[in-house]
Parts: sequence; structure tokens; C-alpha cells
Amino acid sequence: MTTAQQLSFDVQLSDHARTTAEREQVLASPGFGQTFTDHMISIDYTEGRGWHDARLMPYGPLSLDPATSVFHYAQELFEGLKAYRQTNGSIVSFRPYANAARFNVSASRMAMPALPESAFVESLELLVQTDREWVPTTEGHSLYLRPFMIATQPALGVNYPSQTYKYMVIASPAASYFAGGVKPVSVWLSTEYTRAAPGGTGFAKCGGNYAAAFVAQRQAVAQGCDQVVWLDAFEHRYVEEMGGMNLFFVLGDKLLTPALTGTLLPGITRDSILTLAAGLGLEVEEGRLSIDEWQAGCESGELSEVFACGTAAVITPVGSVKGADRAWTVGDGTPGPVTLKVREELVGIQYGSRPDTHDWIHKIC
Ligand SMILES: *Cc1c(COP(=O)(O)O)cnc(C)c1O
Repeated sequence: MTTAQQLSFDVQLSDHARTTAEREQVLASPGFGQTFTDHMISIDYTEGRGWHDARLMPYGPLSLDPATSVFHYAQELFEGLKAYRQTNGSIVSFRPYANAARFNVSASRMAMPALPESAFVESLELLVQTDREWVPTTEGHSLYLRPFMIATQPALGVNYPSQTYKYMVIASPAASYFAGGVKPVSVWLSTEYTRAAPGGTGFAKCGGNYAAAFVAQRQAVAQGCDQVVWLDAFEHRYVEEMGGMNLFFVLGDKLLTPALTGTLLPGITRDSILTLAAGLGLEVEEGRLSIDEWQAGCESGELSEVFACGTAAVITPVGSVKGADRAWTVGDGTPGPVTLKVREELVGIQYGSRPDTHDWIHKIC
């Protein structure tokens, strides 16, 4: 196996990088995941040889054989994290080693090779340092980093996983994920479809989970809702998570979030909120909540706020809920005080206006 120490990146700078004016035009209104920086990272893996050919290169299309296994069997996984320009001018990321560790947990589930955590973090550092001008200066904006890995063997056999893989990182300047800022979203309770079942891939950050979810997301939109809320696979009764974000319920001074039972994605934002809660005077519980309890809690007022959390959209309040046979609002439908307090603390640490007491900030340059 190749160790991180042996991986050195070959650097090939772009000769067609965007001009300052072109870049500034993108940064004025970046949207989310639509425009990419001038470079990307690529590292190849071959069974028996390990990781090799680590390089930073100009951003551009790949050329792959049509038989490449990722196209047929979806052996793919990804990560998502951000580079932030802090108030003191430095560029940082947030808990990148947690993403590196989760990347390898996903890889293990998908029968893909682990990437040394140091190589993962080094790849992010190299890309961000090279494309540092792409890290937005606008408050609340960031550079979204998308590491991913695909199976590259050009063969259709299904009896064994691919023997070759490619790890890549691309980067994209980002405004806020949901257009319109901290505006409560409406959610659709999906009782027709299932995202994940025990023993499946729910805890792995793999593209296949998303492929199977789009139909429910489309149904949510057809029902006039912004997002899907997934329920347990057996009874479609217990809350699991949102399409790409974890959920928190506010009950008095307590935050309740669904426990990690293997069917939901272990969000790093979720974990950070569980850690920050005590300092904000909040108790935490990892448990379970049925949709009946959710509805009754909102109707009695005991459950005052609900928010979703994830790297891309940080913290987003949930304002209303709709299902096949029910609909209700959460609180008065506006962002609640606990949601805003948690959001402010987390965003404050990421952008450097609040002390980083948990050593989460990783300086890049
Ligand atoms: C990435 C992701 C999340 C949120 O994870 P963070 O580490 O907080 O960004 C939640 N659910 C799903 C399905 C995800 O893919």
C-alpha cells in the first residue's frame, strides 16, 4: 500500500485560467455547484499498487471507456465540505479530518479502497491554495469542495468490485444552498418511497442513495414542498433525515435528533451541533421521533422548532410539514430563536467571529 508520505502531487497549472474579470463575475452571484474553479485533483488507485499518479491539473472533462464500471454499477462515493475566508483574511476548512474519516467509512461499505486521511486533507489544501482567488469574500459565501471516488475498471463483470479507482476533488464557489437565505422550508413526508434500510447504504455518502431519492424529491415538489423527509423503512413512521441534511427537533431546552442507526448519514454538522449544544445551554438527545409525535408536539406547542443541518445549507428551519394524510406548521412558521442561536454559533466558528474552542478550524492559507 502506498502511504501518504510517498504520495507527492505533480502540479500542472492551467494555461486557460479565467481572467480576474471572469472570476469576479462568477463570484458576484455564484449560486450553488454551477461553476468550478480552474483546477482539480486526481489520484489513481490500482489493486496491488495502491494510490499513484497524484496530481493537480487544469479543470476539465474526463475521457472514460463506456464500459467503465461506475456507469453500470454505481460504485461511487463523495464528500462535501467548504473553504471559508475568515474575518482575519485566512482561508480555512472545517473539520476536514472528519470528512476524511467518513470518506473511508463510505469506501469500506462500497468495497472501495481507503485513502490515507493525510492525502485527503493534503489534496484539499493544494486545490484551495492554487485556486485561493476563488474563495469568496462575500459574507456567508464559501468555496464548496467536492472530493469523490469512482470505480474505473472498463469491465462489466459483477462478481468482484473494480480493481482500479480514481479519486478527484473539484471546487465551486457557493452562495447559500437554498436560494433566499434563512427561510423556512416546507417538507414532504415520504411514505411511498424508502431511502435506506438496515444493512443497506444509508450511512455511506454514495451517489446511489441520491439516485434512488430523486423520484421522492420530485414528488415533494409536486406536492408544493421544498424537500423530502425520509422515514424508517419498516413502518414509514419514524423520522430519519431530510434529502441531504440531518434533522433536529427543539423541545423546550432540549435538542432531539434521530440516532445513528445505520440508515442515516452521520452528518458532521449534526455532530458539531451535538457538541456545541451544552455551551448554548441546551440538552441533547439522540433518539427517535414518530411523525405522530412530531405533529402532536407542534399542536401542543411542546415541540417549538425544527431545523435541518448540513454543510451545504448549514442550518435551515423547517416551517411546515405535509404528508399523504396530514399537514401542519411548526411554531409560527418562521425561524425560531434556538435555530438562529445554533446557526449563529456554528457560522461564527466557521468564519472566525466566534472562538474555535473545539479545534475544528483547519487553516489552509
Ligand atoms: C452529506 C449529507 C448530510 C449532511 O452531512 P454534513 O457532514 O453535515 O454535511 C446529511 N444527509 C445526507 C444524505 C448527506 O449526503
